[in-house]
Amino acid sequence: MIQDNTQLLKQYLIKYSKQIGILETEIPELYFNVQEFTTRLHESIDRRGIEIQQDTFDIDYFAGLFGYCGRRHGRYIFVNLDRYNDDNDLHHSDLRRLLVHELVHYRFPNLKHGTEFYCTIELIFSQGKKYPKVHIPCPNVPMI
Ligand SMILES: [Zn+2]
Repeated sequence: MIQDNTQLLKQYLIKYSKQIGILETEIPELYFNVQEFTTRLHESIDRRGIEIQQDTFDIDYFAGLFGYCGRRHGRYIFVNLDRYNDDNDLHHSDLRRLLVHELVHYRFPNLKHGTEFYCTIELIFSQGKKYPKVHIPCPNVPMI
């Protein structure tokens, strides 16, 4: 079941990234396991010699979330499948909606949770709305 979800979400990541104009080279990495995700995050931060604020990047913090999107120390989306497996009422569509939610954070970094944010998710999710391609800056990453 977990395997199915990860395969589906990887496919949806490509589909929705294209739909909302994320460049192929800037599609975020997708993580499903909190241990793997925080390890990767810490490695990425260490490489850049940035001091980690433990309270900000604590594993317990991420373990409590359903999802997370970041573009400061790499480009990544974390979908907490363990959290979903705790709740049998959640279906594939909810995971897909969560992925779109995180992708909206990534593609529209200035959009905060609110009416416009949730409308954008619905337009993408339910109506297949497309958005133009755009470069998404990733601070703390050297420009190539
Ligand atoms: Zn959010």
